[in-house]
Amino acid sequence: MSAEFSTFINIGERTNVTGSARFKRLILEGDYETALDVARQQVENGAQIIDINMDEAMLDSKQAMITFLNLIASEPDISRVPIMIDSSKWDVIEAGLKCVQGKAIVNSISLKEGEALFLNQAKLIKRYGAATVVMAFDETGQADTQARKVEICQRSYKLLTEEVGFPPEDIIFDPNIFAVATGIEEHDNYAVDFIEATREIRKTCPYSHISGGLSNISFSFRGNNPVREAMHSVFLYHAIRAGMDMAIVNAGQLEVYDEIPAELRDAVEDVILNRRSDATERLLDIAPNYQGDGKAAAKEDLSWREQEVNKRLEHALVKGITDYIIDDTEEARQQAERPLHVIEGPLMDGMNVVGDLFGSGQMFLPQVVKSARVMKKAVAYLFPFMEEEKKRLNLADKPKGKILMATVKGDVHDIGKNIVGVVLQCNGYEVIDLGVMVPTDKILETAVNENCDIIGLSGLITPSLEEMVNVAKEMQRRGMDLPLLIGGATTSKIHTAVKIEPQYDHATLYVADASRVVGVASKLLGDDKAAFVQENKDEYEKLRVQREQRMKKKTLTSLQEAREFAPDIDWKAEDIVKPSFLGTKVFDDYPLENLLDRIDWTPFFRSWQLAGKFPKILEDEVVGETATKLYHDAQAMLKTIIDEKWLTARGVIGFFPANSVGDDIEVYGDDERQNTSYKLHHLRQQKQTRKGKFNHCLSDFIAPKETQLNDYIGGFAVTAGIGIDEHIERFEKNHDDYNSILLKSLADRLAEAFAEKMHELVRKEYWGYAKDEKLGNKQLISEEYQGIRPAPGYPACPDHTEKGTLWEMLKPDETIGLNITEHFAMYPTAAVSGWYFAHPQSKYFGTGKIEKDQVEDYAQRKGWSLEKAEQWLAPTLNYDP
Ligand code: SAH
Repeated sequence: MSAEFSTFINIGERTNVTGSARFKRLILEGDYETALDVARQQVENGAQIIDINMDEAMLDSKQAMITFLNLIASEPDISRVPIMIDSSKWDVIEAGLKCVQGKAIVNSISLKEGEALFLNQAKLIKRYGAATVVMAFDETGQADTQARKVEICQRSYKLLTEEVGFPPEDIIFDPNIFAVATGIEEHDNYAVDFIEATREIRKTCPYSHISGGLSNISFSFRGNNPVREAMHSVFLYHAIRAGMDMAIVNAGQLEVYDEIPAELRDAVEDVILNRRSDATERLLDIAPNYQGDGKAAAKEDLSWREQEVNKRLEHALVKGITDYIIDDTEEARQQAERPLHVIEGPLMDGMNVVGDLFGSGQMFLPQVVKSARVMKKAVAYLFPFMEEEKKRLNLADKPKGKILMATVKGDVHDIGKNIVGVVLQCNGYEVIDLGVMVPTDKILETAVNENCDIIGLSGLITPSLEEMVNVAKEMQRRGMDLPLLIGGATTSKIHTAVKIEPQYDHATLYVADASRVVGVASKLLGDDKAAFVQENKDEYEKLRVQREQRMKKKTLTSLQEAREFAPDIDWKAEDIVKPSFLGTKVFDDYPLENLLDRIDWTPFFRSWQLAGKFPKILEDEVVGETATKLYHDAQAMLKTIIDEKWLTARGVIGFFPANSVGDDIEVYGDDERQNTSYKLHHLRQQKQTRKGKFNHCLSDFIAPKETQLNDYIGGFAVTAGIGIDEHIERFEKNHDDYNSILLKSLADRLAEAFAEKMHELVRKEYWGYAKDEKLGNKQLISEEYQGIRPAPGYPACPDHTEKGTLWEMLKPDETIGLNITEHFAMYPTAAVSGWYFAHPQSKYFGTGKIEKDQVEDYAQRKGWSLEKAEQWLAPTLNYDP
């Protein structure tokens, strides 16, 4: 990815009560857990900074800011990105600065109320080590012209650097993006003013940054998304070249500049660059042509076939068109001296374009995976020619770099790893993918035997975190020196820094997502490797120190006291319903078509790194078009899955007599309750709390033995992945990662839909405690029903080993062909399992971190050594064992 883009930063804007109705509702309702998900989602989808704003009249903004930031601090997957504290109230900003652990960014200060206040605020910000946005605003108002923007920014810069000693690299100027094409002549030059001011500020205020809120520019075209998208792309195209290096851009997703139809692009460019006085009128004239499917018509255009072959290859790669790839590749081969030159020349050139567009947020994951499919088909076609040549000329091959990838022992998840592999291959690296459940020995021996340059580990479930620590230890023991990359949903920079990196003397790096892996790999294999590695080592050391300080501050309550704060449920016989049967029931071949209306599509798009809620995402200004195409492909494949019966859904549920005893749940052989067949173990929150608030534990939702009430617990395990392997194999043989990943992501959706459907049947019929429930899919997705289905490994019950007991109770391995690995990952992976709790007061929560007293207690209850408990509970410990 070119340097020009690699420094451009997207700022996520959804954690903003003034900008997002959903976030506002969640905060007003006090549902901080779900609000955290909003933040997490933004980070997952590539936001490199998140802007948090709580300025809402109905809120105690200061308290809301404090609460939310404190919650974020204990979520390493969110707090790995810098936080932008956004408020027009200084006391809110200051309160926020006190909570943020890493480097914060203040949004914003300005000269609006004079120099004295400005300097004071800047001094405080500096003391907190934070960066700040400086609005181009002074005592006389907001800057609109180039001259005013430059003047105010230069004045601010001088004051900040000379009077306060503010580090210039921590200054982010926002020179105000205003709407153009409004019909008011004075507005015509606003974009040019911004762009030219940017150029000048970057030149005269060294090391400072330029940011802005992008969507303002197109305000006058509300309702016409294609035109707005085009305006955003054109504006950014020019502003980035002038030196803009940050923007609030709705998750950074835009129409690709080069793909805007020429007529529209020219008209937009006339407006943005203010090139002619009738620019606005001309854009207004053609705008209606691009509303709705105006773009679709242009798609049929085959004029690209008339270009020369290299351009055709590039077009096919960027657009993901496989139709002509073999013919074009053959034509290029005939023109080339060696088959390898086709790959190194036009194909890599095309993929570099894709890489740049992806890296700069102008192209999205589904498109990249489609591009990779084109690339792979071309390479596969050339392969025999290269083999033949190699034999003939006795050549040895040398790719850019060889990377070994594996999902660690005990884990079976590979969608993320496959995506990373595709992106690496697209960029000229050779990838050896050892697949899933790969033991350490095999990883390390292959890396040595195959002469690999880098090892990449992936994992999704929390036990994989410990497994990665083991791999690092073993690399150290063997005296290896290959760089080690860490990735996967539960991994994080902080975990890598604290737990993995200290085990291994050589490069050990966390890679947040597929868009960053190429940058990391090229640095690790480049000339500046040593400096890069040292830089990371220093950063990780800093993270470790910060974390230690944080942990010292965060004291938890004792287990004994936490138990005194258990919720006091008023146990009544009428709140308990006996299930319609006891024991298990198997569903051997549940009709897939019955699951379609229960699919929750939002996570589907998330797995493709597309941010937004379904169905709105289909019309999203930025990702709408990509999302719609992906959705159509998904629908078509779903139809085939059902028509040709590619997948079989199987499930097993069970209900058992149970009572709680302390933090455990006793499960009895029958309703006489004389023999305990199983013991389920749960963990209790140890957060400091106060009167009226509780320290939850799942066992609280089952009637305690001493109430003498006959209560019950349920369990379930469902899969929609039976039969998937042969189809995945077929796609992979055909170099078709796109359809392979699509099928896996759809099987996951069907499994979740099956869990939802089954839970509904359980509530209404099999357990029957909510016979009259009438809820639509939307209400089901937002869990508006009575009872919960917590899954072992999730926040309320983070210990994966309890899945072992669930497997003894339901025997899903024997009854439905759903297995667990030694680390309790389920396979087939398209599977969901968990407990059913029926009590009206049962709810989801997170145990949070726990202290040693509870770990000792838990170890004893489980019959484990303390060491074993600390290993399995590693991610939840509030101390270093
Ligand atoms: N509709 C979504 C389901 C999201 S996952 C989809 O299709 O992907 C929601 C499930 O995660 C819950 O039903 C529960 O099984 C589990 N879960 C969520 N929060 C939990 C928590 N705090 N503790 C335990 N399990 C939880």
